[in-house]
Amino acid sequence: MPESDCLFCKIRDGLIPAKVVYQDEHCLAFEDINPQAPTHVLFIPRKHIATVNDITADDRELVGSLYIGAAKMARERGFADTGYRVVMNTQRDAGQTVFHIHLHLLAGRPLHWPPG
Ligand code: IMP
Repeated sequence: MPESDCLFCKIRDGLIPAKVVYQDEHCLAFEDINPQAPTHVLFIPRKHIATVNDITADDRELVGSLYIGAAKMARERGFADTGYRVVMNTQRDAGQTVFHIHLHLLAGRPLHWPPG
């Protein structure tokens, strides 16, 4: 899919509205439109990367920034000790629906395992 058709690239570029809650040099984060927990935030790289399969060694810092941002937000929202989940769904069987990688941050309720 070309970057111009990517929903999350459009959010990155301000063409589609989103409630942006975090930004740094490499990534931004916004509230999920269909939250599955009291906190459900998506951390995306500014660079278009379709799936985890497409991450390269050059993306180390960028991918690290997604986790650093998510952990910072979890701390700020008071979930560092009670717990939270970060997950990146990849391809059909994992339920990936948007093909621009995004780290889900879920928190604020007990999160069961396995996730199903
Ligand atoms: P996936 O299923 O792991 O690919 O997650 C895609 C996520 O994007 C889902 O949790 C959707 O609710 C969310 N989503 C889809 N469209 C939008 C939007 O326009 N704004 C914010 N979140 C969205």
